[in-house]
Amino acid sequence: MDTFQNTIPFVDISRPSIEEPVQSLTDKFGRRFEYLRLSITDVCNFSCQYCLPDGYQCNTSREFLNQDELLMVVKAFAQMGTKKVRITGGEPSLRKDLVDIIRQTAQVDGIEQVAITTNGFKLEKDIDAWVDAGLSSLNVSVDSLDARQFEMITGDGRLQSILRGVDKAIQHGLQVKLNAVLLKSLADHQLPMFLNYVKHNNLTLRFIELMQTGDNKAYFDAEHVRGEEIEARLAELGWVRKTKAQWAGPAKVYRHHDYEGRIGLIMPYSKDFCADCNRLRISSLGKLHLCLFAEKGLDLRELINKSIKQHAPQLLVEEIRALMGQKHATHYLDEGYAGATQHLAMLGG
Ligand code: SAM
Ligand code: SF4
Repeated sequence: MDTFQNTIPFVDISRPSIEEPVQSLTDKFGRRFEYLRLSITDVCNFSCQYCLPDGYQCNTSREFLNQDELLMVVKAFAQMGTKKVRITGGEPSLRKDLVDIIRQTAQVDGIEQVAITTNGFKLEKDIDAWVDAGLSSLNVSVDSLDARQFEMITGDGRLQSILRGVDKAIQHGLQVKLNAVLLKSLADHQLPMFLNYVKHNNLTLRFIELMQTGDNKAYFDAEHVRGEEIEARLAELGWVRKTKAQWAGPAKVYRHHDYEGRIGLIMPYSKDFCADCNRLRISSLGKLHLCLFAEKGLDLRELINKSIKQHAPQLLVEEIRALMGQKHATHYLDEGYAGATQHLAMLGG
């Protein structure tokens, strides 16, 4: 694996000068994209029922983007006004060079926030190093606070260590969010359990509606619950909608004066979900995904390497701008169409 020190130094002649304003990345529907989700692996060590129920399987050999390639991608996006990068996977903490990737991403001019989405299995041990490298916000996936239920869903028995890691992250002053996929079989437990948790924990718990992917149709049919049901119960309990934070994207967030934390909802099946889309995705093999549920990824790997060789992020910038014309107004999830996405470990959600 390359190290950060091996990163090819280059004089970035194509970077806009101080006087030249960054021309932001927009699509034909007027949406602005300042948020990049960067997948650094598709390997995972958990076997979440809705994602990789049989665990990670792969019998073809392939190489994930190395640090030089990742750095070139981030530089190109930063030149188009990207301010926030979320590192994701698969499970990103399985990459041994994660700390270097966080550090080099945080050092790119224009990048103001480096976030990670993780299943949290290394959180307790590694959070100090991630923060030291420049991590500013953290999403941890925790579908249940009950150790038995958690293990049943994820196949992993380390819930207590994950929650200790979450506490450490809060103590570091990080912006922390927990993600819980809404599941019909847990419907009676999830809301009361997490309300209790956010009473005294200053973080945002976000319920994510289960999404149908290529691989999980039967599970989706059995377990999908609409987020509106939770929204209605929150309203009854006196929770009120917060105004959106910068780069917040499509989550709706609620607060209550008796609670330290917040409750969010991500409802991809709701009307207008895509109207606020502000993110693009790069897969761990260097494909641009204009939507989580696009029909295909657009391969940029050759161009990423050409840009590295020629010290010219501008090559990548021009291609990405041209490809934006292919971005659709919305996904077609409600018609049961999940595009090329077999499971979200491919792209990071
Ligand atoms: N392994 C990391 C994790 O679990 O946080 C990062 C990748 S994971 C694919 C990113 C997020 O997608 C997690 O919060 C996970 O719960 C969510 N996710 C995975 N499959 C999903 C599905 N079918 N519907 C809704 N959310 C899903
Ligand atoms: Fe792994 Fe995350 Fe998928 Fe769970 S949701 S199997 S932790 S990639």
